[in-house]
Amino acid sequence: MATVTLDTVTHYINGEKVKGQNDKFGYVYTPSTGQKIAAVPYASDEEVDETIQLAKKAAAKWAKVSVGKRVEVLFKFRQLLVENTEELAQLIGKENGKTISDAKGEISRGIESVDLAIGAPQILKGEYSVNVGGEINAYSMKQPLGVVTCISPFNFPVMVPLAMSVMAVAVGNAMILKPSEKVPYSAILLSELWEKAGLPAGVWNVVNGDKNTVNAIITHQDIQAISFVGSTKVAEFIYETGTKHHKRVNAFGGGKNHMVIMPDADIDKAVDSFLGAAYGSASQRCMAISVAMPVGRKTAEVFTGKLKEKVEKLKAGSYDDETADFGAVISAEAKQSILSAIDEAVKEGANIVVDGRNPDVENKEGFYLDATLLDNVTSDMNIYKEEVFGPVRTITAVDSIDEAIQLINNHQYGNGVTVFTNSGRDAREFTQEIEVGMVGVNVPIPIPVGYHNFGGWKDSRFGEGQMFGPDTARFFTKTKTVSERWFDQSASDETNFDFPSS
Ligand code: NAD
Repeated sequence: MATVTLDTVTHYINGEKVKGQNDKFGYVYTPSTGQKIAAVPYASDEEVDETIQLAKKAAAKWAKVSVGKRVEVLFKFRQLLVENTEELAQLIGKENGKTISDAKGEISRGIESVDLAIGAPQILKGEYSVNVGGEINAYSMKQPLGVVTCISPFNFPVMVPLAMSVMAVAVGNAMILKPSEKVPYSAILLSELWEKAGLPAGVWNVVNGDKNTVNAIITHQDIQAISFVGSTKVAEFIYETGTKHHKRVNAFGGGKNHMVIMPDADIDKAVDSFLGAAYGSASQRCMAISVAMPVGRKTAEVFTGKLKEKVEKLKAGSYDDETADFGAVISAEAKQSILSAIDEAVKEGANIVVDGRNPDVENKEGFYLDATLLDNVTSDMNIYKEEVFGPVRTITAVDSIDEAIQLINNHQYGNGVTVFTNSGRDAREFTQEIEVGMVGVNVPIPIPVGYHNFGGWKDSRFGEGQMFGPDTARFFTKTKTVSERWFDQSASDETNFDFPSS
């Protein structure tokens, strides 16, 4: 393997890129080549505390800036995201491994969050009632919380940080972003763009680190709210620890998303939709379809036959290879755990329809896997129960829509699901009965657009707040209700000890 000079990634604190003092650090790899490219410093407890103190000062000033002026910064930030899409996409490809076209898709979905937050003046408008009693007027206002944090995963280095944080900034908070230590570059470029857009120093900060850094942030007394996206075990831990420390927390976890294919569905459209939704981004999406669930033996046969032909042609490749369908997985460890999940499933009785374990790629050092497809997968197998974050997808055939609904409702995860059918009646029953947060009908992945709320059910989310959508503004603000009266000086004073009523 060629030697690469290691770069050192910085933090971005109070408007400056800083290397940090802590001697703990991790490594960043390029999944497409398997090469170690950078050292990323892990912030110490003291560094976290200093950053939060600086952010607290910045938050106090930023909250007093009019919402119109705050949104002016967002307009510029949006423009800079558009102008720097190519550079951002290259960074995402380099540190995450996904293809450039996929990275551009993620950036454009991230920009939707900015579009929504540009509406902050409208969203922040309160309520007003005149003369609720005794010439009293009542009104409410939404005020920022102060310093808030977002802790993000490796699989969307730009979209998830934007979805979690832009509204928080727009409504007047200061942000401490702790990106995944596997993909720290994109967050630093986002910081540069915020700075160019005119965001005051200290309002947006990036602190790199591992679980110790996360712990220092989420237990800090001046952190008011935590928005987390990552695996379910960690999401649960963050929720429990954050709420124990009296923080507002929403924590988004993993998923196991099903595509149900009814006998009357357009099978070709279902197959094509499955391909991209299941294997895009090397299946490293929380909303990736993991399980195809054809209803009826005939549907299963036709669907599996057509899918097999197309899955065999899928090709993993380098992030900058325009002919690749998807990139490498994030790490050597991830690749190994995906291989182990396939081996275990086969031992448990799953049948290999397409075997992607020995990928046809030039660079053998990259963390590549081609697409694997398994059928005869039953609900008691681990591969059905657990999220496998890599390009192995499974088929579980069922006899009826009721059986499909029951299996999905019994699953621990409830992030996304989709049904392919030409029956409005079946679609209606499905969308009503299914216990999953985001539901699609004849669409590949039901990720809501930025102005609708995003959030799974069951073990896919802990806490109530949603991501994207209007709910984000509620999560990052507190409501104050004021009852106000102006005295008529000529009126006589009276004292009343009864409970006030209108
Ligand atoms: P991860 O849980 O390993 O890491 C996420 C973040 O948590 C990182 O910033 C990491 O540094 C931190 N972290 C890791 N272990 C920790 C610990 N023990 N204590 C405190 N902090 C810790 O997740 P990942 O591998 O980066 O991302 C993939 C996971 O994220 C998948 O499970 C995927 O489904 C999920 N995800 C969910 C959504 C959603 O919206 N529900 C979106 C994207 C990704």
